[in-house]
Amino acid sequence: MFERAALIHYHEIGLKGRNRAVFERRLRDNLQFAVRDLTAERVERISSRLLVRVAGDVPLDEVCERCAATPGVTYAAPAYITSRSAADMNAAALLSLREVPDARTFAVRSRRSNTDHPVASREMNRLIGQHIVDNTGLSVDLSHPDVQCSVEVVEGEAYLFSRRFPGVGGLPVGTAGTVVSLLSAGIDSPVATWRLIKRGAVAVGVHFSGRPQTNDASERLVLEIGEALEPYGGLARIYTVPFGDLQREISLAAPPDLRVLLYRRLMVRVAERFAAVERAKALVTGESLGQVASQTLDNIAAVDDVATLPILRPLIGTDKLEIIAEARRVGTYELSTQEHVDCCTLFMPRTPATHATVAEVRVAEEALEIERMVRDAVATAEYRDFPCPAYRAPKHLPDGVTSAKGR
Ligand code: ATP
Ligand code: MG
Repeated sequence: MFERAALIHYHEIGLKGRNRAVFERRLRDNLQFAVRDLTAERVERISSRLLVRVAGDVPLDEVCERCAATPGVTYAAPAYITSRSAADMNAAALLSLREVPDARTFAVRSRRSNTDHPVASREMNRLIGQHIVDNTGLSVDLSHPDVQCSVEVVEGEAYLFSRRFPGVGGLPVGTAGTVVSLLSAGIDSPVATWRLIKRGAVAVGVHFSGRPQTNDASERLVLEIGEALEPYGGLARIYTVPFGDLQREISLAAPPDLRVLLYRRLMVRVAERFAAVERAKALVTGESLGQVASQTLDNIAAVDDVATLPILRPLIGTDKLEIIAEARRVGTYELSTQEHVDCCTLFMPRTPATHATVAEVRVAEEALEIERMVRDAVATAEYRDFPCPAYRAPKHLPDGVTSAKGR
């Protein structure tokens, strides 16, 4: 019998010139972490690929699934490892095709990463293809095969596989720095957060709940959303901030139509405190231009006015239906559509301002003790950590911030 492995291909990191080694090491460490409870084997780097060898009792498909969910991976394939002899490769080709029982047609695609193997790729395709035709009911279709049998001859070994687990693409988490994401329990912000994770960022969420003016349903949901993002290994921590009393304070002191903008400006300031603690270099929100009344260019400007870090809005040009489709793929949609009160709807007037000016909101804010409110918000935050191998937790937290373990 042949040894098995998850063979992992990555693409974009191949293009990163001098950074390449750093990216590959990060991806390797992230993969190692992703499969930590399935196998103790070291992830190996083999000529622009990564390889996780698995013993017979390890669920190889699950290893491949975990690897495919790891940002930076193009695909993971459950491969047979053989010698470079024709007999071994032929036998492994048949075994790998048996894993795709519905196929009627096939094509062999061979690649040699160094050209020292005496048989050229096209000849190898032909020889293995002939062996398959002779030993199965499959026929050759080079243009639209039901299944592709891939043969990769690399250094001293060959890898054969007929199935692929498509990866999420992107870049390894930990290669793009840290972002603080304003994470509601709605549909959009989890997807926005996911997009930054996919591009290599470590994400730290900050969630504002309406507590004590509301129950803690949104907090529980947002933590479940954090769990749903766990397979990607990029969401490291969520701070939850009970925001209800501060919203009440705003609603008593400021014009009703500006409330949402004042909530948002306060949220941004609080998020920036956590960004400083986490050494994050940007904030992230799930806004999409014009999606709701508050998401106009004027209102975006009125909120950006208080930010000192860039606010990234990865969904700004994405339609709601596209966001929903992505939320389903990512695995957050079911949670995001569960019943909960979002704190932004607290004390909401019937007609919020859609085109507020920066000057207007600044004047309205003069009635508030902003600095004290930010401190109050930070000091009542709780956090929970999620598994993220690229994350280094800050050594010091602001006074009052506690771990949510006890809850
Ligand atoms: P989402 O689906 O992400 O809740 P939304 O369509 O409800 O977004 P808004 O309510 O305008 O849109 O919120 C815009 C963005 O502001 C959100 O995507 C999120 O980044 C941030 N935000 C809103 N409410 C909260 C909250 N309670 N906690 C943290 N961030 C929030
Ligand atoms: Mg929302």
